[in-house]
Amino acid sequence: MKVTVNHDVCTGHGRCYVLAPDVFEPDDQGHSMAKFDDVPANLEQQALIGQANCPEGAISCS
Ligand code: SF4
Repeated sequence: MKVTVNHDVCTGHGRCYVLAPDVFEPDDQGHSMAKFDDVPANLEQQALIGQANCPEGAISCS
């Protein structure tokens, strides 16, 4: 699974990296960065949780 964060849309709520800390992390300004381009299979569920809980729809999983 590939995961991307649209930095034009992310406003830095932090929900993704609080709920899915093994997949997402904050940058210096609190915006989210994905730790992986290709999410390991054992973390796919966490990536989807982050996507589902982003109020801005900034996270894409495919
Ligand atoms: S939940 Fe969405 S808006 Fe908030 S930090 Fe994560 S990607 Fe950005």
